[in-house]
Amino acid sequence: MSSIRRYPDLYLGGKWVAPLRSDTLEAINPATEEVIGVVPEAGEDDVRRAIAAARVAFDEGPWPRSSPRERAAVLRRMAEIMRRRQDEIVALDIAEVGRARLLAESIFVEIPLEHWEDMADRVLPSYEFEQAIPPQVNDFGVGQGVVLREPYGVASIITPYNAPFFLALFKLAPALAAGCTTILKPSPNTPLSAFLLAEIAEEAGLPAGVLNVVTGSPEVGALLTSHPAVDLVSFTGSDAVGRLIMGQASPTLKKVVLELGGKSANIVCEDADLDKVIPSVLMAITVTCGQGCANLTRTLVHESLHDELVARLKIALDQVTMGDPADPAVTMGPLISAAQRRRVEDLIRVGVDEGAQIVHGGGRPAHLDKGFFLEPTVFVDVDNTMAIAQREFFGPVNVVIPFRTDDEAVRLANQSDYGLAGGVWSGDPVRAYRIGARLRTGMVSLNGGSPGLTPHAPFGGYKSSGIGREWGKWGLEEFLQHKAMLWPMATG
Ligand code: NAD
Repeated sequence: MSSIRRYPDLYLGGKWVAPLRSDTLEAINPATEEVIGVVPEAGEDDVRRAIAAARVAFDEGPWPRSSPRERAAVLRRMAEIMRRRQDEIVALDIAEVGRARLLAESIFVEIPLEHWEDMADRVLPSYEFEQAIPPQVNDFGVGQGVVLREPYGVASIITPYNAPFFLALFKLAPALAAGCTTILKPSPNTPLSAFLLAEIAEEAGLPAGVLNVVTGSPEVGALLTSHPAVDLVSFTGSDAVGRLIMGQASPTLKKVVLELGGKSANIVCEDADLDKVIPSVLMAITVTCGQGCANLTRTLVHESLHDELVARLKIALDQVTMGDPADPAVTMGPLISAAQRRRVEDLIRVGVDEGAQIVHGGGRPAHLDKGFFLEPTVFVDVDNTMAIAQREFFGPVNVVIPFRTDDEAVRLANQSDYGLAGGVWSGDPVRAYRIGARLRTGMVSLNGGSPGLTPHAPFGGYKSSGIGREWGKWGLEEFLQHKAMLWPMATG
């Protein structure tokens, strides 16, 4: 993408509206360091306007009172427009995030679109928004009733930089399906796809105020999560900001749904097939340059396979092609920014100081003089209590730790503040299942299964990896209130 996308206005109350301040944000292609887009940087007064628009649309507008069938029809129209603009969305994901083309196409654009369509075509039409309560008999007589599932209210939706289109869809699909009204705030690093979604909502005829798009700093985020007119916050990002948001939301007792970070373990038993394991470890390091919350970043391997796994992983990493992902031959792009690269490099230095050993990578690739690239990096001689085994790199770094027994593998896997994902590899599927069932984490991949990629399974974490679930009917339920209505059939 060579031309610069310019959005001079914010999308508020169904209109493109000039911001109240003149500051702008530049979206930078992290592979080329070129400006690819300019958007307004919203201030707190802009955010107050967005919240007011969402509040009016919720309290007085048609959307929360529309039928599931009507909402499904609008979601379907939005899906059709997204399909029509799919190539453009893929190009934006590559340029905005620095993601390799194959991943942008097959996972980060296609999968959320399939989820969106699934919400419109399957989940929404079949969901029981009114569920009968069976007749009850007690000393007062006989009664019955109904449980109404109602939209939760005004929802602030805040996303991180690593999957701006993907994560916006995972939150907006259930929020809109439920009948909520929303304010979407993307990361300042990757604001462009949110504006594209506003264009799509406008063309599809989503009623005014149901989707509002703002941008901006942590102050703007703080207002979105503390303002009394907001009922619910759906946030994906770091656990540090997740903790702040719980505090910011607490005086007004908002519901918070938090999808946070991870340090997920990939357990490789001595009977595992390394031909299949190696690509999974490679993916954990290279997908979005390691900037994925559910990447399996701690490899726990049976001591008998440790040396072979490390040797084969090094060979596989030598085949990785780093560069500008606009080139389809590139398999690993850059980190999002100079600041993020510094953070990852600082933690790599901590690992070296702790006594761990780098067996691959560790530095910047010499052949790339532009872009925020970092070599895929592997540590051995790692103790699970070290900072590099406990803290999230959010970069292309993996630690390899040996274990002797299944019990030890489970103990090491669970010895983490996080609990988002996990993997188990064994030639015995029952053994893999038993180990997986003992992991304190929201999702487990057995011998390469991808639980995180189907709308028929929930997505979310235990412990510091978050609160609540996304995707499919689980995601929808987070945006609903349950109201019990009961009436007498006969009194005693
Ligand atoms: P971040 O937490 O720094 O920022 C996320 C968003 O929160 C941004 O839009 C930011 O502007 C906003 N924000 C910052 N301070 C705020 C505040 N005080 N109140 C409200 N909003 C505020 O995250 P990031 O650096 O953009 O993304 C990386 C992190 O996201 C990693 O920790 C990663 O694990 C996590 N992540 C989690 C998932 C998941 O589903 N579990 C998915 C992707 C990324």
